[in-house]
Amino acid sequence: MFENSLHYYTFGEYKEIERAAPYYDSLIVSSHFVVTETDKIAGTLSNLQPEQQIDFYVQPYLPEFRKGDNFRKSNGELRSWASNLAEYYGPPISDVLENRSNLNYFDFSREDQKKIIEKSCDLQLDLLDEASENKLGRYLDSVASLTPRALVPWYVKINSRPDIRANEEIINYAAEYSDCPVKPCFYVDKSFIHTESNRREIVRAVEEAPVREVFLWIDGFDKRDVSIGELCKALDLVERVSQRGVDPHMMYSDYFANLMAFFGLRGVSFGIEHGESKSEKTDSGGGSGDSVRYYYNPVKEFLNVYDVEDLGTDFDDPLCECQACDPVMNSWSDIFQLADDRKARAQHYITTRDGHRETVTNETLDDLVGELWDGDDKYQEALDDTDHAANANHLRKWATAIEHYVEEEKQRELSDYSLTTTS
Ligand SMILES: [Zn+2]
Repeated sequence: MFENSLHYYTFGEYKEIERAAPYYDSLIVSSHFVVTETDKIAGTLSNLQPEQQIDFYVQPYLPEFRKGDNFRKSNGELRSWASNLAEYYGPPISDVLENRSNLNYFDFSREDQKKIIEKSCDLQLDLLDEASENKLGRYLDSVASLTPRALVPWYVKINSRPDIRANEEIINYAAEYSDCPVKPCFYVDKSFIHTESNRREIVRAVEEAPVREVFLWIDGFDKRDVSIGELCKALDLVERVSQRGVDPHMMYSDYFANLMAFFGLRGVSFGIEHGESKSEKTDSGGGSGDSVRYYYNPVKEFLNVYDVEDLGTDFDDPLCECQACDPVMNSWSDIFQLADDRKARAQHYITTRDGHRETVTNETLDDLVGELWDGDDKYQEALDDTDHAANANHLRKWATAIEHYVEEEKQRELSDYSLTTTS
């Protein structure tokens, strides 16, 4: 199965989550949200579980404190969600955060590291389950057992070999502590996986860990920032991990990740709006200031609704027939009906991503790469004129990366073949 996971960030997204339930498989809920809104999330998950069989994971969130100050207000105090999490953990986490420092795994004693990891497992295994028992059990005959599909232990961003070893240590602690399967997150900087020996080292760590599945999160992998070479390195990492019998699942991903399914990727994750990538956030200043955007499937990108109207009309593209679009759209000019309807746009996006999953099951890689080239030919010029995509060459980048990687692989196989036949 190819798993589509949704990041569930805030309680305001509850309706979208519920409505779109037939179109995704699992939710990734943030720890700070679990600590702050325990009962509400337990209620949501219980509602979804019996019929829709939605699995969930809890994001540990401790890695958010590694760098920068985006978790503080301008006066230096912790934001309320961060403060709730600090309160849950207590010392030494709360001491570090209240002393206005960042959280670094290596600063803690072995004993404290272990204590924090155990506490983070408890948070994932117990809080929602107990809330479901205590609150909902009072007025329901039977309540869903709310244990996550797997534990996602605290992870250390990988910029060096010692970081990999720290992650191995954490995974082993978590696996010893609980019977729940562990699905660790390997969070790597894209520059780190550039070197073959570094990729090999990550694959070794994955292979030796007591796990069957891993999340991969490549920092700086946004379609606008990533290069063809970096896409190839990511394909190589994914393929090698899956060849070791471990299923990789992207923690953040755009359409390109669906093509990675042909190389062994087994899942993608995304936020309900614009949530295709996420880089380590270190700056507290300013919001994103995004205007209203609609996921325009022909170009696999969110575009400003004005640009969607122009492109859809100019190219006479078929309208989306999803539950959100179909009832209100008779022509691309009707796109403005969705401008004020965040829920509908979210539903459209989630359904479209579900469709992408279908295409990788039903179509060949050659056909899908061909579609990328066709899309690039058709839309490139128009995309350059949109407000969003100053550098809208992602379709071409993706296609080139796949072709390049496959070609390299063929060469490798040929040279392996000649080595074995001549020796
Ligand atoms: Zn739609």
